[in-house]
Amino acid sequence: GNMIPSGKRYESTASDLWTSDTPVEKYEYQAEVSRLMDLIVNSLYSNKEVFLRELISNASDALDKLRFLSVTEPQLLEGAPELDIRIQTDQENGIITLTDSGIGMTHQELVDSLGTIAHSGTAKFLKALKDSKDSGSDSNLIGQFGVGFYSAFLVADKVVVSTKSPKSDKQYVWEGEANSSSYIIREETDPEKLLPRGTSIKLHLKRDEKGFAHPERIERLVKNYSQFVSFPIYTWQEKG
Ligand code: ADP
Ligand code: MG
Repeated sequence: GNMIPSGKRYESTASDLWTSDTPVEKYEYQAEVSRLMDLIVNSLYSNKEVFLRELISNASDALDKLRFLSVTEPQLLEGAPELDIRIQTDQENGIITLTDSGIGMTHQELVDSLGTIAHSGTAKFLKALKDSKDSGSDSNLIGQFGVGFYSAFLVADKVVVSTKSPKSDKQYVWEGEANSSSYIIREETDPEKLLPRGTSIKLHLKRDEKGFAHPERIERLVKNYSQFVSFPIYTWQEKG
């Protein structure tokens, strides 16, 4: 069968990889995203903790969108009325999982949002990068513009996003790795990972960044950022 999805794809075509009975679609990042990823992954930028601010801000945006829509479509909240952000730390395995009960993403939105440059700040960043001849200034540029979702790769070598939009019957998983020019999308089949709605982002921390899964460190950072967020943020530890 032809498994090429209807989404936008760049450069290469989707390959037909399969695990059990679930098709895995492979996509190439837009060239600009690849460049940005390279830069982030190899960056000496020291303020890596900004990843948490970016992911919390995305979660908050997703909750805002849902809250807005639910005014005219209250059924969107049915079965899962809570609008919140949950951050789980698994210190032993060096994993942080951030889950929001926001608007989520459809398959198409995943491809458009996490494979291309959707972020105007990021587009400006790339322009500034192009204009700067001095590669030593890359680090400063990351701080100046912010790199949105992709900042997850400041601390993680693998990022797994599982997301359910109220517009779709299905929940999808996006999986990307540092130092790869491609990412995969597949349907979520693990019943334990099914969400009523929203997005869960799992960061597999780099060896040198596992300290971020320390619960007190996360709590301290969350405390700083949460004052700008109008939804509750809960943190808890995976029991070891
Ligand atoms: P920005 O937030 O400025 O748009 P990002 O790189 O941070 O840029 O995020 C890119 C896009 O990915 C967002 O605009 C949104 O469409 C989507 N996205 C990211 N995180 C989430 C999330 N938790 N829930 C729903 N959509 C998300
Ligand atoms: Mg953002």
